[in-house]
Amino acid sequence: MIAKKYMNMKNRMSSQHSSHAVVIGGSIAGLLAARVLAEHFDRVTVIERDYYPDNPEPRSGVPQSNQGHFLLARGKQILEELFPGFVEELSEKGAIQVDITKDWVLLFEYGWWSCFSSDLTTWNCTRNLIENVIRKRLLNYTHLTFMEGHQVCELLASSDKREITGVRLKDSQGQESTLKANLTVDTSGRNSKAIQWLQALGYEKPQEQSINSFLGYATRWYQCPNHHQVDWKGINLMPKAPEFKRGGVIIPVEGNRWIVILSGIGGDYPPTNELGFLEFARSLRSPDIYEAIKDAQPLSPVYGYRRTENHLRHYEKLEKFPENFLILGDAVCSFNPVYGQGITVAALGALTLKSCLQQQKQNGVKLNLKGVSRRFQKQLAQVNNTPWLMATGEDLNWPTTVGGETSPIMKLIHFYMKYVKIVSCHDQRIQKIFTEVINMTKPSSALFSPNVFIPVLLRSLSNP
Ligand SMILES: Cc1cc2nc3c(=O)[nH]c(=O)nc-3n(C[C@H](O)[C@H](O)[C@H](O)COP(=O)(O)OP(=O)(O)OC[C@H]3O[C@@H](n4cnc5c(N)ncnc54)[C@H](O)[C@@H]3O)c2cc1C
Repeated sequence: MIAKKYMNMKNRMSSQHSSHAVVIGGSIAGLLAARVLAEHFDRVTVIERDYYPDNPEPRSGVPQSNQGHFLLARGKQILEELFPGFVEELSEKGAIQVDITKDWVLLFEYGWWSCFSSDLTTWNCTRNLIENVIRKRLLNYTHLTFMEGHQVCELLASSDKREITGVRLKDSQGQESTLKANLTVDTSGRNSKAIQWLQALGYEKPQEQSINSFLGYATRWYQCPNHHQVDWKGINLMPKAPEFKRGGVIIPVEGNRWIVILSGIGGDYPPTNELGFLEFARSLRSPDIYEAIKDAQPLSPVYGYRRTENHLRHYEKLEKFPENFLILGDAVCSFNPVYGQGITVAALGALTLKSCLQQQKQNGVKLNLKGVSRRFQKQLAQVNNTPWLMATGEDLNWPTTVGGETSPIMKLIHFYMKYVKIVSCHDQRIQKIFTEVINMTKPSSALFSPNVFIPVLLRSLSNP
């Protein structure tokens, strides 16, 4: 008995001295951050306001979880790097492997893209399956704990407010408690309260940028029709600026289901009633989606979604920022979802955290957290920059978009990209490079390399 008491005391003491990281919000960004932190801390705690469903299902803390998600090829690569065997597990659970240039049928702004085999692959599945597989992998880490049904309501700080020392949280009955941490990471998404929490400690509000194309989604899940013989594993009918505001996507996912997303830009929101949804599908630039769903069996109501503005918080520019506190994922930068970037950018953020923590190790051994907060936010800002410019650059093609200016350089890029898009409809090589840039497996500079630039320039000169 005395021995047991002693052991408990010893465990408590050692846990008091062990290093502890806390993650606020356990969706994709939080789970990936936790995976990286688990390499460097004795204990990691993920605090999540929801209770996770056991199976891959939508949950209320992630309102976009009943919307279709496309996993970009770069995102897939990073998930496999962080969790070896990840894609095999997705496949066992019914995700569908796709050769992006062959299996996705795409009506681009200036015509249909060709379908040809390539090495550019990803998996079609729900966001919920991705989250579920990641979380189940993390359950194997014995030093990683999930506190479900707990909501963080405040940051704790040292008396001089220079360091974040943990969080105050509430359980589902409103019972408050505190949790001390050596490092606190906010991944609580688009509605993160980090700005208010920091302001309460006397920090300035960071600059924020918001660029809104007023895009709305209406999404419905269908049973994949048995009789429907198709040679595609995804359709994307894109809008065409400035006149054609409507687009639509079918993503086949696990469970023999289709997620059908209709979207309208510039406030041309798709209806969420049955008839209106079908009529909207019929009004797209091509009848393929309407034809595919008109007799299909719906599995869900129509889910609307309109919070789609690109939003960027410049924490990296703050003159003062506390030690031992990091922010990543949608909590820093969220995108118009139509470009499918969020999961991949969250994964890139986790890789940035990994390399940043590695750099903080003294002699490659002891982790020293001094300065990590500022260093990380600056590195993350660089990582976010390209996807931000890609998404907002596209949105600024629409005269109805609000926020952000179309600078002379942006006008030049729009002009150039118009001809990249035109040429890509006839030139598979350029289509492939463009697809790789969109999928973040190639840098955007690839679109300005001579083998793209010259044909694009020639085309623009022949038809200005
Ligand atoms: C309509 C729509 C469609 C999208 N489509 C795509 C797509 O096709 N491809 C793609 O890659 N991305 C897509 N995204 C983006 C993608 O969903 C997110 O970028 C991705 O999930 C990463 O988000 P996150 O983890 O940073 O935040 P979220 O997913 O928003 O998660 C935040 C988490 O924090 C928890 N939380 C919040 N506050 C607290 C608190 N105080 N205490 C404790 N827990 C808290 C929430 O419950 C939630 O679990 C889409 C987004 C939307 C809105």
